[in-house]
Amino acid sequence: MSATLYIGGRWTAAQSGGTRDILCPANGEFVGTVAAATEADTIAAIEAAKASWDSREWALTPAAERGDFLLRIAALLRERQEEFARAESLDTGKRLVESRLDMSDVAACFDYYGKLAAQDAGRVVDAGDANVVSRIEHEPVGVCALITPWNYPLLQAAWKIAPALATGNSFVLKPAELTPHTSILLFRLFDELGLPAGVANLVLGTGSVCGNPLSTHKDVDMVSFTGGLPTGRLLGRNAADTVKKIALELGGKNPNVIFADADFDAALDNALNAAFVHSGQVCSAGARLVVEESIAERFVDELVRRAEGIRLGGPFDEAAETGPLISAAHRDSVDAYVQAGIAEGARLRCGGKRGEGALESGFYYLPTVLDRVQRGMSVVRDEAFGPVVTVETFTTEDEAVEIANDTIYGLAGAVWSQDAGRVQRIARRLRHGTVWINDFHPYLPQAEWGGFGQSGFGRELGPTGFAEYREPKHIYQNLTPAVTDWFPKH
Ligand code: NAD
Repeated sequence: MSATLYIGGRWTAAQSGGTRDILCPANGEFVGTVAAATEADTIAAIEAAKASWDSREWALTPAAERGDFLLRIAALLRERQEEFARAESLDTGKRLVESRLDMSDVAACFDYYGKLAAQDAGRVVDAGDANVVSRIEHEPVGVCALITPWNYPLLQAAWKIAPALATGNSFVLKPAELTPHTSILLFRLFDELGLPAGVANLVLGTGSVCGNPLSTHKDVDMVSFTGGLPTGRLLGRNAADTVKKIALELGGKNPNVIFADADFDAALDNALNAAFVHSGQVCSAGARLVVEESIAERFVDELVRRAEGIRLGGPFDEAAETGPLISAAHRDSVDAYVQAGIAEGARLRCGGKRGEGALESGFYYLPTVLDRVQRGMSVVRDEAFGPVVTVETFTTEDEAVEIANDTIYGLAGAVWSQDAGRVQRIARRLRHGTVWINDFHPYLPQAEWGGFGQSGFGRELGPTGFAEYREPKHIYQNLTPAVTDWFPKH
């Protein structure tokens, strides 16, 4: 029995007694055993959140106090960063240095929303009539189901939890089943700091078992989901019957556009980061390199040389530069994309296979570059979510934009050039939620994050990510009620 579900302010095991062993993707070593929730556990968590919401204890807590709570969480996260980072690395296999950065980003997110909480004063509306008082107040949405993926487990959860708490909601978090441990640690902080029972509930389990109640239960008012496009589509359909609010942060097939006048070394270095950080398991990975024809050969030769030199290894291997994929199944799916691309005519420049020798104990896949690709090939079109970059070339600005926008997704993209006018022109024309100029990957808690097209809808982070968890209410008072005679007396 493993009491790792947190429901109504109590740690509890799954009602069925079911458990799941978590193994480190870097070497298959045992990390821990957690509860495997059933549908009944999930419904119990929703009911606990609903009871807490009905009491309005947290919703009516002054916003400044809610903000203080978030700031205290941020401080504790910083104090215990090492414990959290190690747990994240063991679950995901990612390097400890990367998990430390993730944890400091988690703390920054709690800080940002902690400070924003008290600024939520609503606004007075000018009704155009001296006898009317009109104002907008913001109320919490109610019970939120928060569903998150395994690539940045605590960070993705923080982007939802921090604004949900700051605005006074109650919620159920369901992290990805493979990476539960940092969520458990965070909920211990909630417990330690005395968050009222039922405000925050944690359900650990698979999407196929826990997902249905989270997206269909009548008492869930909002679903905020980060994950893959097929799951997002399903959740959208499920949530429609009860007209839940829904926010979807889905995948991307992100272009990294390099002009010939870019700073070559900086563009090259960042193209490697864009494609291979966390072995490409990043929604904003620069998986499509779109490079100007005149420098393409030199740029790609150098990219391949550098990619071949990337050292793979586990979380605590200080020589490692990137880590494993999350699971054997995911590695197989990445390999299938690559092999399909080769079968469709792409040229494999490097990688295209599993790690060998000492790397065979984990789910490693070598950094892979494919050129001579055609638009429409699955490896160019679909998200591989692994260390795979395809190369396309262009000769004009218009062509660069056309290639960059030729995707059903629209999450993020970058443009590299030293021409100040050109980068602004391109940035305006890219249909992606984030555009980086002469950089790749940075994001800020105070700046909105999310996608155009089938990368989803709604935004996380920034003031919009805060507003997602509030309902605006218009309150209108007539100071001089009078008979209108609209319907005359008969
Ligand atoms: P996934 O869709 O398989 O799973 C995500 C979460 O949804 C997990 O918790 C999973 O258990 C749950 N889930 C699965 N089926 C469900 C169902 N029927 N009902 C409810 N929940 C269900 O995605 P993944 O493989 O964990 O994550 C990778 C994907 O996430 C990639 O497509 C990536 O681009 C995307 N992602 C997007 C962002 C972003 O900010 N846009 C960030 C990170 C990851």
